Amino acid sequence: MTDANRIRKIAIVGGGTAGWSAACLLGRIFARDDTEIQLIESSDIPTVGVGEATIPPIFEFLQLLEIDPVDFVRETQATFKLAIEFRDWLKVGHSYWHPFGNFGVTIDRRPFHHYWWKNEAQGHDDKVADFCPSIALAEQDKFLFPPADGQFPGGALSYALHFDAGLVAAYLRRISEQLGIIRLDRKVERATLDDRGHIDQLHCDDGSSVSADLYIDCSGFRGLLIEQGLDAGYEDWTNWLPCDRAVAVQSEAVGPRTPYTISTAREAGWQWRIPLQNRVGNGYVYSSAFISDSEAQARLVGSLDGKPLADPRVIGFTAGHRKKFWDGNCVAIGLSAGFLEPLESTSIHLIVTGLNRLLDYFPDRNFDPALQAAYNRETLTEYEHIRDFLMLHYYPNQRIGEPFWDHVREAPLPDSLAQKMELFGNSGRIISRRRELFHDLSWFFVARGMGLKPKSYDPLADIPDFHDVRDVMGQVSGAVGQLARAAPTHDQFLEALITPG
Ligand code: FAD
Repeated sequence: MTDANRIRKIAIVGGGTAGWSAACLLGRIFARDDTEIQLIESSDIPTVGVGEATIPPIFEFLQLLEIDPVDFVRETQATFKLAIEFRDWLKVGHSYWHPFGNFGVTIDRRPFHHYWWKNEAQGHDDKVADFCPSIALAEQDKFLFPPADGQFPGGALSYALHFDAGLVAAYLRRISEQLGIIRLDRKVERATLDDRGHIDQLHCDDGSSVSADLYIDCSGFRGLLIEQGLDAGYEDWTNWLPCDRAVAVQSEAVGPRTPYTISTAREAGWQWRIPLQNRVGNGYVYSSAFISDSEAQARLVGSLDGKPLADPRVIGFTAGHRKKFWDGNCVAIGLSAGFLEPLESTSIHLIVTGLNRLLDYFPDRNFDPALQAAYNRETLTEYEHIRDFLMLHYYPNQRIGEPFWDHVREAPLPDSLAQKMELFGNSGRIISRRRELFHDLSWFFVARGMGLKPKSYDPLADIPDFHDVRDVMGQVSGAVGQLARAAPTHDQFLEALITPG
């Protein structure tokens, strides 16, 4: 029965990072099958043109797509990302790291950060960088691949990429077309529905129409199918995450290419600095209730460390998500599904998890509503988790008297975040659930960076003799220091990697 009902034709609308990621993954899945996949994009409608910082799971996606990561780095002007440095978020002049990878080592089966709080309670004033390989390397603009077993003395190293989004889309398009994806350069004007309320046909500006069993909406913020066609509705989270605009500009590269993103708090939001091999991406993300576009633009251009390479572009958005990510025979992936502002570079990751979830719940032409319900439920949970983590970056700020920062400090927290922070405030425990993107350590680093300190610590940290704990700490910091001293600079590492031969 299933075979007769199998999806035989898939239409993807949109050729940005989301569209070509979908095409490439589905191209691989259906490579030995006669299912037809078409991608429709309009060369008259530009992609959003930002989205250049990622998080470590990007490498799992490259592996799934059978992409050689070194070739990818060469072809997309990529650099490595070990961490984000947050400057001025707690207060002007203060900075902290949110690194990837481990912090210290497990002692007596308990994570190291619990001993960290005990260590502080005992009056020790150690530096987190001495126990975290990613921070130790980032602080010195250094980088190296971890050994094959993935372990360093002093914890595992993990990293992600910064890349040129335009080159990534072109790279994925090349592979997708080799896999047999058919690209149609047309503007879709509207979708018509069948009597089940599913999408029946897409009508294009050249008079042609496209029909498919399954439609993937990758049309960006406009949500051409999911919203304009199916009226899925949008849950506006501006009350939680008030930034609603970004002004972005690329600039000439100056100085070493940092193996980390810099995120600097500004008067009405924050500014990113993302180094690529050949240029730097910059953007000021802000709330239009607190600063005008022209002022934000002037602030951004005035703060660049290299000459701008183009005129700045303003992009508007509404933090939030579609009320249904999957509706009938249409699944929204990418910005058409939602957007939670770029603070922790989660959007491309949400494209990947959306696609993987679609594979988990892949429908046949009956479109079992239970599959759609499970997909929508899990996606919503993922969005809520990321929203809470993003809010942790804002609400504990001490930038008293600055209207935007007062606003985000005083706004009420969602219950899910309030409960987490109560737990943290008492004993430093934040227990992430199995499928949550940001694990305990991410919460530890950002909460600590934002000046939050638990009243006490995990009582199990009292079980090992504290002298033994200090000994282990000494060994870890020795190993981390040695590693960082011996590592090449990020620039040297990149040159060696991308130079042919
Ligand atoms: P788009 O890039 O907008 O692509 C839409 C596509 O749809 C285009 O190809 C267009 O031609 C096509 N299209 C639209 N309408 C039609 C039509 N009628 N007919 C035919 N084709 C049509 N993400 C990260 O992971 N890291 C970051 O650092 C990051 N920074 C960001 C900063 C900002 C300010 C913003 C706004 C986003 C950022 N993102 C980031 C998100 C990231 O940019 C997107 O997730 C990613 O680019 C995917 O976009 P998309 O493909 O969904 O949409």
